[in-house]
Amino acid sequence: MTVRTKLMIDDVQLSDRDESSGLYQFIVTFKNRSKARVFMHSQPNWHVTSVSRLLNVPCPICRKDYYCKCFDNYSGEIERQLIDDGRVDRLVGK
Ligand SMILES: [Zn+2]
Repeated sequence: MTVRTKLMIDDVQLSDRDESSGLYQFIVTFKNRSKARVFMHSQPNWHVTSVSRLLNVPCPICRKDYYCKCFDNYSGEIERQLIDDGRVDRLVGK
């Protein structure tokens, strides 16, 4: 991966799934140890519907240890990383 970002995904775990509606929840851990709950929809193609940062460590972008909106700005970047290498497909067993 050549693009540098503050939010490089290190690990992803499937948290919840609702196959009838195509909605999935993932817990994403980034290389800077921050975590986020990522909501994705599988139809018609995988896309992120929302990202909410977990409060395990202060925000790596604004340094707040309370809720902030920073990760929303990275939802496209997070989506790309999740989809690009087939990670999401593997996680849900497709
Ligand atoms: Zn922030």
